[in-house]
Amino acid sequence: MIQRITVLGAGTMGHGIAHAAIIAGYDTTMYDVARPALEQGSIAIGGIIDKGVDLGKVTGAAAAAAKARLKTTTNLADAVAAADFIIEAAPEQIALKLSLLNEIEKLAPVGAAIGSNTSSLSVTEMAGALSNPRRFAGMHFFNPVHKMKLVEIVRALESSDETLQTIDEVARRMGKETVVVKDSPGFITSRINAMIGNEAFYMLQEGVASPRDIDKALKLGLNHPMGPFELVDLVGLDTRLSVLEFLHKTLGEKYRPCPLLVQHVEAGRLGKKVGRGVYDY
Ligand code: NAD
Repeated sequence: MIQRITVLGAGTMGHGIAHAAIIAGYDTTMYDVARPALEQGSIAIGGIIDKGVDLGKVTGAAAAAAKARLKTTTNLADAVAAADFIIEAAPEQIALKLSLLNEIEKLAPVGAAIGSNTSSLSVTEMAGALSNPRRFAGMHFFNPVHKMKLVEIVRALESSDETLQTIDEVARRMGKETVVVKDSPGFITSRINAMIGNEAFYMLQEGVASPRDIDKALKLGLNHPMGPFELVDLVGLDTRLSVLEFLHKTLGEKYRPCPLLVQHVEAGRLGKKVGRGVYDY
């Protein structure tokens, strides 16, 4: 049974995953190369827990116990030395992820399973960085982690059933529902979401309707909780463009990024994180 989890990366997703892990009762280590990221991630985790107490979802005692289960470090060897399970949530760059996995293999217990939170990259290619690829699979969470119910479990070519079961066990203990998908570009969710978002940009480029009306139509007419432009502003237009470029390269012409999306990224309109995307904040 898994008891100790290490999360690699303390950014948007990493701190959310670490929060889910401590609330689920796991002794959790959050690692990042940047100390400020660890500090900001810890503050964000504290904020989510305190809000849970205010809303009556978590008792004061449970909140204190959860906070006590979190450790942070910038030392990779310390981070993974005693881990039963490692979740990689570093930036979406294949070279960085391959080199990180290569390092982990030298430092972590041989029996520790490893999951990656990549939203679109090939988990089979990542598994190839390990001498034992059977212990690796995708574990795709959604943003914000404490609110979103799904984890996509992505089976790489050589993932073992045991690794998939471990990921399922951890996800369920975190209160998530799971789906299993074989390794393919964008899995289920990123592939469909990128397509809808790209189509929305084509409609805007053609002058079909305003961003507000396209968002309103999808929310009130199709029951989407957010419009495609609200969502891309949250995700980041640069991140969405990287996903589309990868899908275009791997799945073909229908995923060609809309020129208007490319222009927004060139103009620095990267979304809420910089104060301006499709909308101004
Ligand atoms: P982010 O930029 O917010 O955070 C990444 C963190 O990784 C940063 O704190 C950075 O300092 C750290 N980092 C850089 N190099 C590192 C290294 N070598 N080892 C460990 N940490 C390192 O990114 P994010 O949005 O949290 O994305 C992380 C992963 O999660 C990506 O693979 C992304 O595709 C995936 N993902 C993102 C979302 C989303 O909505 N943002 C949703 C699902 C999945």
